[in-house]
Amino acid sequence: MAKVIDGKVVAAALRVRVAAAAADFAARVGRPAGLDVVLVGDDAASQVYVRNKGRACEEAGMRSAIHRLPADAAQAEVEALIDGLMADERVDGVLVQLPLPKHLDEQAVLDRVAPEKDVDGFHPSNVGALWLGREGLVPCTPWGCMRLLDTAGVKLEGARGVVVGRSNIVGKPMAALLLRRSATVVMAHSKTQDLAALCASADVLVAAVGRAKMIGAAWVKPGAAVIDVGINRTAEGKLVGDVDFDAVVGHAGAITPVPGGVGPMTIACLLENTVRAAWRRAGLPKGELSI
Ligand code: NAP
Repeated sequence: MAKVIDGKVVAAALRVRVAAAAADFAARVGRPAGLDVVLVGDDAASQVYVRNKGRACEEAGMRSAIHRLPADAAQAEVEALIDGLMADERVDGVLVQLPLPKHLDEQAVLDRVAPEKDVDGFHPSNVGALWLGREGLVPCTPWGCMRLLDTAGVKLEGARGVVVGRSNIVGKPMAALLLRRSATVVMAHSKTQDLAALCASADVLVAAVGRAKMIGAAWVKPGAAVIDVGINRTAEGKLVGDVDFDAVVGHAGAITPVPGGVGPMTIACLLENTVRAAWRRAGLPKGELSI
């Protein structure tokens, strides 16, 4: 029977450490660390995500603000808002809630967020830093997956890691993080041949696809660590991952559930990134940040 990695417990513990670091920051600098979220349009799911992020910030003793623009906002208007946040000293982290309305150039908007305030880790400069092994801000979801693997005591050095999905926000940074820890990494995607056999060769299998229960027991090596990033809603309205949890749990070495696995880590890591960004911007000694 696999060890079920409880993301809620790991995330709660991380949030306690983040809150302590945020209090330390506020005491040293004389203001709270601050996260500003840009929300364009009225997508219902985005409204909920943004509200949850704001609440989590406040619970950790950080300042948070939501900047709303109408769904028909012009590119120049969105960029001007971000430019204002870049110029504001109290703003440590800026997050642009995705997806943006179709008429906007998403990449141009994201590139406007300066690397030092880019708490999503999407700026090319942070992406480059990750692949070069330099210090930077790392995307929250894959960073949360690494924390879950470490908490479960999964050995990464020399392990064979297979990451299914190659998005810029999950798959690619996940592969970079596993490589950084000396795993031997293969990235799979929709054009990969013989995906089942490839997955079955993994010691560490990360699924970030968005297809309900596509990974069954036959795709998982006995004893492997399985991290399920996928969030899918079934016809009955139930949330399930990319992994068939019930089929795999008796067989894997460790596994994250959906919900309650990777999801809670993403927000906790966003808070962590905000404190990291604040700490660095204030020029505080790196070794004294206690997260
Ligand atoms: P995405 O941008 O849509 O990328 C999906 C990836 O899966 C693509 O690389 C695609 O390959 C690959 N893929 C699609 N069908 C496949 C197949 N049949 N076999 C193998 N690979 C296939 O998605 P994403 O943003 O990375 O998100 C992935 C999942 O994670 C979604 O369910 C999303 O909701 C979830 N997610 C969860 C969190 C969290 O906090 N828990 C955060 C972010 C995302 P191609 O590149 O070839 O098209």
